[in-house]
Formats: sequence, structure tokens, C-alpha cells
Amino acid sequence: MDFGLTSEQEAIREAVGQICARFDDAYWLKRDREGGFPQDFYDALAKEGWLGICTSEAQGGAGLGITEAAIMMRTIAESGAGMSGASAVHINIFGLKPVDIYGTEEQKNRMIRPMAEGREKACFAVTEPNTGLNTTQLKLRAEKRGSVYHVSGQKVWISTAQVADRILLLARTTPLEEVKKATHGLSLFYTKFDRERIRAREIEKMGRKCVDSNELFFDDFQIPEEDLIGEEGRGFEYILQGMNPERILIAAEAVGLGMAALRKASQYARERVVFNRPIGQNQGIQHPLAKSWCELEAAWLMVMRAAWLYDNGKPCGEAANAAKYLAGEAGFEACQTAVMTHGGFGYAKEYHVERYLREVMVPRIAPISPQLVLSFIAERVLGMPKSY
Ligand SMILES: Cc1cc2nc3c(=O)[nH]c(=O)nc-3n(C[C@H](O)[C@H](O)[C@H](O)COP(=O)(O)OP(=O)(O)OC[C@H]3O[C@@H](n4cnc5c(N)ncnc54)[C@H](O)[C@@H]3O)c2cc1C
Repeated sequence: MDFGLTSEQEAIREAVGQICARFDDAYWLKRDREGGFPQDFYDALAKEGWLGICTSEAQGGAGLGITEAAIMMRTIAESGAGMSGASAVHINIFGLKPVDIYGTEEQKNRMIRPMAEGREKACFAVTEPNTGLNTTQLKLRAEKRGSVYHVSGQKVWISTAQVADRILLLARTTPLEEVKKATHGLSLFYTKFDRERIRAREIEKMGRKCVDSNELFFDDFQIPEEDLIGEEGRGFEYILQGMNPERILIAAEAVGLGMAALRKASQYARERVVFNRPIGQNQGIQHPLAKSWCELEAAWLMVMRAAWLYDNGKPCGEAANAAKYLAGEAGFEACQTAVMTHGGFGYAKEYHVERYLREVMVPRIAPISPQLVLSFIAERVLGMPKSY
């Protein structure tokens, strides 16, 4: 068993860290206040080829694994970019995995390369307002007439839809009443985001202002049949391919953000003097921070284990879900502890940790809630009856 990073993995951390260092706390504070996609940050990573880290070499990427991508995403979040930085590039890293596996050669060449090179942005539209985590009940309808699918309905919480050129869309092609299993009859499309036919209304939200999330309204949105991925009706099965890597990456981001919070908090605790000594000399301040560090390190081991399983072609659902759960909770605990360590100043924007606390709620809630992860583990690992 080897717990060390390879020299290539160390080099990834170093190189990505150097790019991130050009985008300091003041940059992310401004993005948090004003919103506006962090295009210069996105371009800086794209220019050095980092958006294609997981993309195969045939499509212009580096052909590395989810392990390397997790190291990169942790580094981004840990730099202080947090979820604002990580979510700006997240979908480019893993998002088109289903196209890579199930797409035709023509689709791969047309769709994957522009994303890996950062020339195109995409959004991933699964969640619907009246379906929640029960994905098989999705209602957004895509009806085929001739060679074109006509889409009408609604999605919600779709990130980066304000800036996306393309949309990866899960829609129902056969009504729920007509399929044998609820997982059947959903289809996956990757197509142009047509603003004439899709209205994106930005949701005002708690944090990560610079990476928008939206309600989408589809009004006879038309998709040519060449933009259907794989076979009609098997979209649910296809998106499962992307779910484990997504959980691994978001877990890595939560660990990074938690570590950023600990860095700020321990620096403050060393410098802030109250009762004639640094507050960090009190065990009441030290222990919660040290405990958070232990929890983040343990979560990171689970992230690396899940990534190793995935990269070695082994089943990784349990580990990926456990990593996402542990990292989300540990990241939250670290950010909350960092705010409390700063006392009143923790509530001031200029100390940054309140932004981290608002942002760390994202990897806690999405793409799956802690409750649903625990229900999955209870059923699949502990053999209890399915509860959801
Ligand atoms: C910032 C942000 C960005 C997002 N970006 C995207 C995106 O780009 N694309 C996309 O498709 N989606 C996106 N989402 C949506 C996200 O994946 C969902 O919000 C998440 O999956 C939870 O679904 P829901 O909000 O409908 O919660 P619900 O399903 O309504 O659940 C609400 C609560 O009830 C609990 N619950 C529900 N059923 C059970 C049960 N059986 N047992 C125990 N507890 C239960 C849940 O755990 C949760 O706590 C984003 C969300 C956020 C906040």
C-alpha cells in the first residue's frame, strides 16, 4: 500500500497552485460581492491545458485519472478560490464522461475537445422542481417528431446556465406510465444552449455568487437527433457513469475548502492576542481546529481510495458516496470552526471565512444530500431495506 503522491501528482499540485496564487483573496472577495463568472481564472487554467486533465489524449486532453483531477480540484479550493473557483471549471473536468463512453466517434470529436480546451462551457441539467432527489421521476419531456426532439418543461438549480454554450440534458422520451422500470425512458442529450427557446432565470443564493444557478424554462426547445447520446431511453444508466467521479471531485473540493478555512483560522489564532496571550494558546481554540484537521485528513484518505478504485476499474460507489459524505461534513465543521475562531471578525467579509462557510454548504447539499448518502450505505453496505 502506497500513500505517497507520485512526482507527477506533486507536480500537478505545484503547477495548479501557482496558477491559483495569481487569484488572491481580494479577487474572490470581489467576485463574491459582485458576481460575474471568473473568466480570467477559467482562461488561466484552460491556457495551460488543465481543463482537459481527465480527457483522453485522442480528444486533446492529458488522459490522467480522477485521482489527479481530485488533487487538482482540492488545490483550487484550498487556494482560497473555494467553490467559486472549483465550480467554475468542475463540469469541464468530468462532465462529458457519458459522451466519452457512449458517444459515437463523431460526437466525441465534436463535443469533448472544445470543453477540454476551455473553448466551450456547458451546464448539466438534471434536477427538476417537483422531483427532488428522486431522479427517476423526472418529467421534462422530449418528444421526437421527424428527426428533431421537441423539449418543453422545467429544470431547477442548473449551474453556469448564464454562460453555457452547451447543455447536457436528461429528459423523458417515454412517459413514466409507459415504461416497465422508472429508470427507463429517460434520454441524454448534449446540444447547443438555445437562448431563444430556453429561458434561464438566475436564483439569488447564499454563496458562490460568481457561478450562477438557475431555473430553466424550455419552450419547444429543439434538439437534432445527432445530439442524442447513446440509445434513446437509456440516459439514466449513462449518467450513473458520471456520478461517482462527480462525488469524488466535489469531496476533494470540500476538503480543500476546509483546509483553507483551517489555514486562515490557525493564522488568526496565532496572531490575535486577548488576555495578554494569543487566543491559539488556549486549548479551547486549539482542539476544535486540530479535530477538524484530523477529520479532513481522514476524508481525504477516503477521497483518494475512491479515486484509486475508479481509476483501477473497480466498483467505487460505496467509497465515492462515503468520501462525499465525510468531506462535506468535515469541510462544514472546519469552516464553521474557522468563523468561531475569529469571533466577531469571523462575521466580517474581509476575513474571508464567512464566505467559506456559505460556500461549503454547496458540497454538503449537492449533488446528493447527506441523508441520501446514508440511506444508500445503510441499504447497499449494511443490507437494510431500501428506505427511499
Ligand atoms: C448551488 C447548487 C448548485 C447546483 N447545481 C446543479 C446543477 O448544475 N445541475 C443539477 O441538475 N442540479 C444542481 N443542483 C441541485 C442539487 O443536486 C439538488 O439540490 C440536490 O440533489 C437536492 O435535491 P432537492 O434540492 O430537490 O432536495 P429534495 O429532494 O427536495 O430533498 C430535500 C431534503 O429532504 C431530504 N430527503 C428527501 N427524501 C428523503 C428520504 N427518503 N429520506 C431522508 N431524507 C430525504 C433530503 O436529503 C434533503 O435534505 C444544485 C444545487 C445547489 C444548491
